[in-house]
Amino acid sequence: MWQYRVVSNSGKKVLIVGGGASGTFTAIALTRAGIEPVNIVIAEPRELLGEGLAYQTRDELHRLNVPTGRLSAIEDLPDDFMEWSSAPSYSFMERRTYSTYLRGHLSGEIRHLREFVTELKPEANEKVLATYSSGLQESFDAVVLSMGLGEARIPEFLKGVPDSPRIIKDVWDGKPLPEGRTLLCFGTGLTFIDIALTHLARDPRNMVIAISGSGNLPERHERSQIAPFTPTLSDVDTLEKLRSYLAGAGESWREAVDGLRPIMEAMWRTFTPEEREEFLRTDGSNWFRRRHRIAPEVGDRVDAEIRAGRIVVKSGKVSKVLVGEEEIALTLEDGSTLAGEYLALCIGRDYELSDPLTLNLVATEETSRGPLRMGLHVDVSTGLLLKPNGDSHTNIFALGPLRSGEAFESTAIPEIRKQAFAIARSLTSVENQG
Ligand SMILES: Cc1cc2nc3c(=O)[nH]c(=O)nc-3n(C[C@H](O)[C@H](O)[C@H](O)COP(=O)(O)OP(=O)(O)OC[C@H]3O[C@@H](n4cnc5c(N)ncnc54)[C@H](O)[C@@H]3O)c2cc1C
Repeated sequence: MWQYRVVSNSGKKVLIVGGGASGTFTAIALTRAGIEPVNIVIAEPRELLGEGLAYQTRDELHRLNVPTGRLSAIEDLPDDFMEWSSAPSYSFMERRTYSTYLRGHLSGEIRHLREFVTELKPEANEKVLATYSSGLQESFDAVVLSMGLGEARIPEFLKGVPDSPRIIKDVWDGKPLPEGRTLLCFGTGLTFIDIALTHLARDPRNMVIAISGSGNLPERHERSQIAPFTPTLSDVDTLEKLRSYLAGAGESWREAVDGLRPIMEAMWRTFTPEEREEFLRTDGSNWFRRRHRIAPEVGDRVDAEIRAGRIVVKSGKVSKVLVGEEEIALTLEDGSTLAGEYLALCIGRDYELSDPLTLNLVATEETSRGPLRMGLHVDVSTGLLLKPNGDSHTNIFALGPLRSGEAFESTAIPEIRKQAFAIARSLTSVENQG
């Protein structure tokens, strides 16, 4: 069992809302900063902490898309995941291993409450009152929000189409994919790659037909480590400069994209609201393909399946869907038709959350939506939740995808770890100075 470095015996009682990767990182960071594990509660309805959306998979074909050497759970022990996994620094491990690793760092004294938090109310005594889905209430000195992303996105062409077992709206709902020979996938990004590999591995006769506007697949990591460029903020502090920085990199676009990582949040904050909106609308899809790359081995496997004719990728716009008894068919604007037994939506999730807690926090004006309605209104320099008028809460924090509107790239593990450890430092800094 991991030995915790107790810096102070803080009596602070902290609630973490959501026990996916962000919530689990927060618990690990809080414990290392000196908050006693018995004073930490993680509200998470799922059985296993650390899984959330991304790390619940049991499929060995689903790989991490960040190299092992960058995935330590502990900020001051950067080699920790490498040592735990005995894998080389530049390798891409199975994603299913990651929550096991994270849970190994959680003290057994932390209370895992299998409840949704439905309401949070700041109280006069500087505490926050939490209401759970069971109706029970409990008071905390601080709360950390880590509810992740919103619902799976639904494309326009499916709006108004009645639910059908032929349409898999949320591929990460924990249910196995239905059995069928030909699977249609709407979307050709990272989720598509996972779903396609799972479907194809089940039966050599299976095939996948994927459709998206561009028909572009995610880019892949190089086979050996690259050295990122080291741009400064003034190189990219407008959208025009960012575009010219990326275009100037030519073949070295990976080095250029990875080099932005340390200054991404600052860059995003210098952009005007119009620049942010334009970037997402016109450059977004290319950016995500290049920023979140698949492991080289996964790329090889996808290439082989395409060569074998088991993955067919189309570009185009869907104009109509026809749901039959045994088949589902998509008609494209060029008049062609794609048919299969099932349609899986692989276009990611909304950045705008619609869960009861978020709706309640917004309705009671404890906070508002983040820029572009992505995540929540958060002060990224402190991690504290902001009210609609810009006033800061003193004891409610938010991290991970909830910061996407303010920080943009806030979903990958290296960013989440950094945020969790900063929150823990901030929550314990008064005690530690004594
Ligand atoms: C399929 C996939 C693969 C990814 N692969 C990688 C990768 O290889 N490398 C990488 O760096 N990043 C990867 N990411 C990105 C990143 O790691 C995830 O976005 C990350 O898991 C975010 O974690 P989270 O805890 O914030 O959100 P989630 O994983 O969504 O977890 C949120 C949790 O909060 C709970 N919850 C929600 N509302 C409440 C409430 N009101 N009360 C109590 N609980 C609540 C939910 O049940 C859920 O378990 C991937 C993301 C996805 C979706």
